[in-house]
This record gives sequence, structure tokens and C-alpha cells, in this order.
Amino acid sequence: MSEPLPLCDARTDLKPIEVLFLHQLPEPSHELVESPRCELQHEHTGVHISLAQASGLDSWWLVWAPGNAQLTARGQNMDRRLHKMDDCPAAEDGGRGDGDECLLPAGHTGAHSFAMQSSGPRVPSAAARKKMLHALRESLDEDERAELEEMESLLASQGEPMPLITRNEALVVTTLLGQVAHDDWLMEDLVLRIVERMDTRLQALAH
Ligand SMILES: [Zn+2]
Ligand SMILES: [Zn+2]
Repeated sequence: MSEPLPLCDARTDLKPIEVLFLHQLPEPSHELVESPRCELQHEHTGVHISLAQASGLDSWWLVWAPGNAQLTARGQNMDRRLHKMDDCPAAEDGGRGDGDECLLPAGHTGAHSFAMQSSGPRVPSAAARKKMLHALRESLDEDERAELEEMESLLASQGEPMPLITRNEALVVTTLLGQVAHDDWLMEDLVLRIVERMDTRLQALAH
């Protein structure tokens, strides 16, 4: 595989009105990036673009002009706008189905996204996390699912607290668990539930 091509290094800050608009979109796929970076190839021509939000099947791109140039849209001059654009149909393997798809909008200038450096992961929104968690559960094999369900049922039944662990040990254990579970959403969900309960008990003790 050849070296990934460099990305444009233009950045911009989302304006409050853009944040407002993006927050009201249904089914957001990720948390907003406050200072999005252009996702086109280094030294591309024309406007800069960055995916502002994917909402359901719609992709909303922030389009902004280099320098202080003006964009003309529907007869109006503006230096930037949010624009719903179709996806670029290109794929790394020419559409056989085992390569990456281009993540840029149709008709973009420069190289396709799969030939370039990554523009960085986006943090999935709560709704998207829920969907992915569901998909992850579905993808577990029988043993893995049985193990997960057993842990969930243990957590579901209330047990008597035991004087087994000191407060400081509990803090270390929950921190460690959190770190280990960070990359595994199914486990992370269980860990968060345990941490929340321990936290509630700690607070009750403090009163
Ligand atoms: Zn750019
Ligand atoms: Zn493309």
C-alpha cells in the first residue's frame, strides 16, 4: 500500500448559530467537533469542507472559503454555509465490498479519503452508541453472550453490601476497571453501572 496522502490543514471554529442548527438535527451520529479540520487533500483547490454532522442518512458538511473569500449560494454572498451533500460513490477496491469507502461528498476535489491520512475519529453520539451497543451484542457468540447476561443478572439482583474493601481500594478498582473497559463498550456499560452504585453508597456514607 502506498503512503497516505497529506490532508489540508485548514481549520475553523463552529459558530453558535451553526451549533444550534446542528444540535436540532435528528439521529445525530457523533458529538460536534468544535474546531473542524478540512478533510480534503493538501493544497486542494476551491473551498474547504468538513463533515459537521451525519443525521440519519443525511450528511451535513460545513463549507468555508479560503481566506476571506465569499461563497455565492442562491444569489447570496456568504463566507461559509452548512450544506447537505450526497456521499462520494468511490471505494478503495472499486466496489467489490472489502475495501474502505470514500467518506467525502460526491464531486469533491483531490484524492478520495481512503488514499489520505485519517481526519480523526469522531465521538459517537448517545443515540449512535446505543445502536452500536445493540449491534455489538448481536455479534457476540453464544458463550460471550451467556457470560454478559450472567453479569447483568448479577447486577440486577440486589445483594447485601459486605465490609470487604476500603474506600481507597474501591476508588483504585473502579479506576482500573474503567481503563480496561474503555475500548470495550459492552464491558464499559457494566463498569459504569458498578461505579455509579459504589458512588451512591459512598455519598450515602458521607452523610
Ligand atoms: Zn481545505
Ligand atoms: Zn471520494
